[in-house]
Amino acid sequence: MVSSAIRSGVLSSERVLRMYNAVLVLNQDYQALSICSVERAVNLLLRHKAEMVAPRDGLVLRSPSITYPWPSVIRLKRYISLPYRKVALSRRNIMRRDGFRCQYCGSREKLTIDHVFPRSRGGRDTWENLVTACIPCNSRKGDRTPEEANMPLRRRPFRPSYVMFIRDCVNQIEDSWKPFLFLV
Ligand SMILES: [Zn+2]
Repeated sequence: MVSSAIRSGVLSSERVLRMYNAVLVLNQDYQALSICSVERAVNLLLRHKAEMVAPRDGLVLRSPSITYPWPSVIRLKRYISLPYRKVALSRRNIMRRDGFRCQYCGSREKLTIDHVFPRSRGGRDTWENLVTACIPCNSRKGDRTPEEANMPLRRRPFRPSYVMFIRDCVNQIEDSWKPFLFLV
C-alpha cells in the first residue's frame, strides 16, 4: 500500500522516511520496550541480537551487497530487565490514553475527568476508574455508575503501556504495532 502510494505520488519520499524510520522493539517476552531507528534495528538483526517479528509491507532496504526486509517490529533475543517504567496517572495522560475524546459520547470539547465508579461512593483514582468525559456527560452521569446511568463506556479503561506514550514520536501507528501496544 505504501509503495503504491509512493508510486502514485501521494506520499513524498521524505514523509515516508520520517514515518518509516521508527521500529517497535519488543522485549524477549513480547512486551513493547521502545522505539528505535531502522538503522539501529537492522544492526541488531544482523548481529543476531534481535529477530524480525513484522517487516514493513512492500519496503526493502538495499545496499550494494544486500537486500533486507524493512523492519517494523523486532524482538530482542535476550530479556532486558528494566525498572518498570510507569506512566504517571495524571489528567493529561488519561486524556491522551482516551484520545482526547469523551468516553461516553465521543465529544472532543469541554473535557474533564470522570470517576467511572463515583468518588462519592468510594471510587478510587486508578487508571481503571478514571476516564475522559465531557462536562455535559459528566453532569448527566452524576453519582451513578455507567450501568445505572445507562451510559455505556466506549472502551474499558486500562493502564497504558509506556510505549503507548512514546508513540507521539512517530506520525502514525502501524497496524503491525497495534497488538503490542494496546493489549494491556
Ligand atoms: Zn460526552
